Amino acid sequence: MDAVYQELLLDHYRRPRNRGVIDDADVTIQQRNPLCGDTLTLQLAFDGDRVREAAFNGEGCAISQAAASMLTQLLRGRTLDEAAALRDRFREMMLGDTTAATDKSLGDLRALAGVARLPVRVKCALLAFSALGEVLRERETGIGNGESGGPEVDPGA
Ligand code: ZN
Repeated sequence: MDAVYQELLLDHYRRPRNRGVIDDADVTIQQRNPLCGDTLTLQLAFDGDRVREAAFNGEGCAISQAAASMLTQLLRGRTLDEAAALRDRFREMMLGDTTAATDKSLGDLRALAGVARLPVRVKCALLAFSALGEVLRERETGIGNGESGGPEVDPGA
């Protein structure tokens, strides 16, 4: 991996942005990556269909935690459509798309381009994005009203 990018990744890992809890979050999604043992909780608060606040919590490898830090940094102020576009672009980069890897819209996330060459770590990088995918699904179907605590919660409980 490129040295500058590796530095950026470690910086996000050691000094994560937006790590914490949002008291009035509209959605809280938990994800696990059993292959690596990474856990992640993504929280978002919305203002209409725009992300007002984004935060995460979790434990795991540098790639999973840095990706969450980088993603939450980019999500603030974005609409749901923009967030979906960001997720799609990142997935393309993880599939080895070199134009995605130089796309400025991905911000610091471009530091993870090299992960595309490490198939076992791609799931680590995508963990935060699969959480975002859950958020987008919840918002689309209108069930993300705070009544659902995420995919691991039994809706009948
Ligand atoms: Zn991992």
